[in-house]
Amino acid sequence: MAATNLMKPLASLSRFGSLQTRSVSLKAANIPIAKYGGRHTVTMMPGDGIGPEMMGYVKEVFRYAGAPIDFETVLLDPTTDNYDDLYNAISSVKRNGVGIKGNIETKMNRPDIKSRNVEMRNELDLFVNTIHCKSQPGVKTRHDDIDIVIMRQNTEGEYAMLEHESVQGVVESLKITTEPSTERLCRHAFDYARANGRKKVTLIHKANIMKITDGLFLEVAKRVSKDYPEIQHDNMIIDNCCMQLVSNPWQFDVMILTNLYGTIVTNLICGLIGGPGVIAGANIGPRYAVFEPGTRNTGTTLIGKNKANPCAMLNASADMLSHLNLRYHAKLIHDAVWQTINVDMIQTEDLGGQATSMDVVQNVISHIKAAAK
Ligand code: ADP
Ligand code: MG
Repeated sequence: MAATNLMKPLASLSRFGSLQTRSVSLKAANIPIAKYGGRHTVTMMPGDGIGPEMMGYVKEVFRYAGAPIDFETVLLDPTTDNYDDLYNAISSVKRNGVGIKGNIETKMNRPDIKSRNVEMRNELDLFVNTIHCKSQPGVKTRHDDIDIVIMRQNTEGEYAMLEHESVQGVVESLKITTEPSTERLCRHAFDYARANGRKKVTLIHKANIMKITDGLFLEVAKRVSKDYPEIQHDNMIIDNCCMQLVSNPWQFDVMILTNLYGTIVTNLICGLIGGPGVIAGANIGPRYAVFEPGTRNTGTTLIGKNKANPCAMLNASADMLSHLNLRYHAKLIHDAVWQTINVDMIQTEDLGGQATSMDVVQNVISHIKAAAK
């Protein structure tokens, strides 16, 4: 592997340094929202795989729900190292304030092409990925009644994208943890716990091995927790956390995780409660927000088969409406999806059912029509 093919390492470190000057407070009032004549414009990035199909369902459901949203659709092309498409998408979200997105494939064997997903989160400063993983009573799984909120670091840590070959045969990857970004992540988690009546915040780490990086993560959380005396705070090593999650998941309430541990644990927990097709996730920063399915799959093998579960993307779209303060429309869609899965038991194959994607969408629409009468 030639070193020249790999990304230049140290020049890009400046983006982490610049965090020092940023405020750690999150004020919703800063969020720019494009709204003309009572309608919002939202950036829609369909992504790869089943993304475009799922976005088609979102548009259909919004039409029946009467959601006052206009979409600005931006296509992304993950196969090139010309990033004009990405910068168009980023400018669009900056203009509109809010986006909804499917996952974009990142080519594994092309170190010269940056991940557009990661680059977008960094450029928009979407420092936390938050996912509320709650068991669906109609979905048969090994464990019932799981209710865990994940707060995943979304812009640094193991995803710094700073890899290089120092000498031939020796490659290095930088894991970057900054105090300001860790502090705002922890404050976000504790503020969420306080606002939502949650009792405990658990920080997940590997500070016995990564003593300095995860050590800082651990220390900052301990310090921040002192400002929230009514909320219990503890920590757990990532490997034990995975074992505890499969044997006794009910002990967890709100979890704070680094970027890499966060994606692994997100997939683990979503797997426990029904897989990739149900749960939505939100990427949040001080100015912008981008909504997407929680496990960020492309589901390439399901393209065009009318089999993919549309609920994760529909739930993401409802969360987006909630973020825009369109609570009536958000509830209409959340309730219709919940009824479809848990009461009518109209479920796609991933949940053990036999329904097609369109059966699910039709059923969701029938609930919306009935409720909106
Ligand atoms: P692939 O891109 O190879 O399909 P992914 O990593 O995107 O794989 O997804 C992991 C697994 O989850 C695959 O088996 C995929 O079929 C499944 N999957 C992803 N999204 C959905 C969905 N919306 N509904 C049902 N199954 C899904
Ligand atoms: Mg995939």
